[in-house]
Order: sequence, then C-alpha cells, then structure tokens
Amino acid sequence: MTEQQTIDIARLPVMGEAAQQSYPTATLYVVATPIGNVTDITLRALYLLALADVVACEDTRKTGALLQRFGLNKQTIAAHQHNEREVADKIVERLRSGQRVALVSDAGTPAVSDPGARIVDAVRAAGLAVMPLPGPSAAIAALSASGLVNDRFHFVGFLPAKARQREAALVPLARDTSTLVFYEAPHRIVDCVGALLAAFEPTRQVVFARELSKLFEEVHRCPLSEALAWVKADQHRERGEFVVLVEGARADTDEGDAEAERVLQILLTECSVKQAANLAAQITGRKKNALYERALQIKGE
Ligand code: SAM
Repeated sequence: MTEQQTIDIARLPVMGEAAQQSYPTATLYVVATPIGNVTDITLRALYLLALADVVACEDTRKTGALLQRFGLNKQTIAAHQHNEREVADKIVERLRSGQRVALVSDAGTPAVSDPGARIVDAVRAAGLAVMPLPGPSAAIAALSASGLVNDRFHFVGFLPAKARQREAALVPLARDTSTLVFYEAPHRIVDCVGALLAAFEPTRQVVFARELSKLFEEVHRCPLSEALAWVKADQHRERGEFVVLVEGARADTDEGDAEAERVLQILLTECSVKQAANLAAQITGRKKNALYERALQIKGE
C-alpha cells in the first residue's frame, strides 16, 4: 500500500501556469464550479476566484461556503434568475471602474440551464470583455460516459413541467438524429420517462447519469422500453439529480417520408385527424405524435 500523500495546491509548481495567462481588469469571468465533489473545481478557477474583486453568484450562501472551503474570503453579490437584469447593470458599472468580476452559478457551468446569459449579454452589449473558465458541466460529463456514438448532440435542458407542454416540446424532437440531452428534477423523473416513451421509439437507447461526481453516482444505459422499470426498481432513484440522454432518431429515408405522407393523406379523406394518425402510425411504424401534428397541418387546423 502506498503512503497517502497530501497536496498543497498553492505550492504546486503548475499553479504558475495559471498565472501565465493574462487576466485583464474590466473583464467578466464566467467560472464553472463543481457539480458534485468539491475538488472538481479547476486550479485556474481557484486562481481566478482569488484574483477577482467580487463574485456574482446565484446563491451567496452556497458560493460563500464553497469559497471558504478553499480559504477564500471574497465579497459576493447575488445574481439569480429574479434579478439578472438589474444586477447586470451593477456588474457593468463595476467592470467600467476596472474591476474583475467572477460569475458563478450554484453548480456547473453558468448560463447553461442556469442564470448568467443575460448578464453576459449585457456586458457584451456594453462593449466589455467576457472570458470563460471551462470546467464541470453535467451535460458534457453525462455524454462522455454514455458510449452513445454520435458526433452531434442537441442540448434540450429542462422540459416544461406541465404534461401537455412537455408532450408538445417533444414532438419536434422525435425525428432529430442528434443525441438528445435533457436535464430533469428528481420529482419529475417518472413523468419525464413516461413522456419520452410516448414520443420516441421504445427501442432507442436511453442513458441516466444520476448524481454525477457524488457518492451515489450511477450511469445506466438501457432501451427506452426498460427505462421506467429501472427508475422504479429503487426508490432512491426518484431522488438526486439526473441528466437523461436519448439516442437520436435513425435517419428517415425520403421514401419512408413520402410513404407516411401518402398513407396519411388517404386516411384523412375518410377519418378524423386522431384516427388517421393512429392508423398511419400502425401502418408505417412512424411516431403517432408526429403524424398527428402533420395531420393537423394538412387539415389546416
Ligand atoms: N449549469 C449546470 C451544468 O451545466 O452542469 C446545470 C444546472 S441545472 C439548474 C441543474 C440540473 O443539472 C439538474 O436538475 C440535473 O439535471 C443536472 N445536474 C446538475 N448536477 C448534476 C449531477 N451531479 N449529476 C447529474 N445531473 C446533474
């Protein structure tokens, strides 16, 4: 067994490399923070946070605690979804006076399903500099461990909470050939999986990346048809944070499209929109929701 070693980060020679890059004043630094284990923070993020005049954060208590763990005692200002516009003006003022402002969210990369984009937009509109400090992102971590082989992904983020809006949001995604990336809150994971099952072919692969970088981390991959059983197999699964990935649609052929359209057109001369979509789905193997939307278009409804 090897002797356990501890690392004094500040004394690491490599920290000198963090200092080699220039960190201009009058700049907004968008800093990614851990999504689980606190040591996922990057050395450069620590360097910049130590250098910053002020840290704008979603929750000053949470970020204050994070900074404390690294021995940083910094001024913080609240920058959350309810005050983003107003705080953006204050940040612009600080930048104009020559400060370095760090922007962080509670976890992961700011402005990705998190507050921050409006602030960045306002800073850019004021002609001031913005610099990202890359680091943890739940979506990218999930993709990296998924084994879904596809050069493209479509980041969807959170689906609407209401069932009808959620269904509607999934319709245009049914034929997307990119890997689909969803964020989901634990109390909605069962509803989310139900909606995915209604919208996509049950043979598609789905990946649950749960509690990444935390004690009870799980990355599970299965066909969509088995997803609900997996979630329900352990009551703990309805807790914790999830990224859900869904394999993209197989590329449809033009002939397949034309055939589905032809069948739908014929059925619509005799049946209601709903019946036509149901029957066309059975005949062509296409998704019912997508055919229903197309039938509505044909009928001009
Ligand atoms: N901006 C963050 C990012 O890009 O990592 C995401 C913030 S968003 C408000 C929170 C959502 O991200 C969660 O509901 C979950 O879907 C996902 N998430 C955050 N941390 C996670 C983790 N440790 N494991 C799995 N998913 C996580």
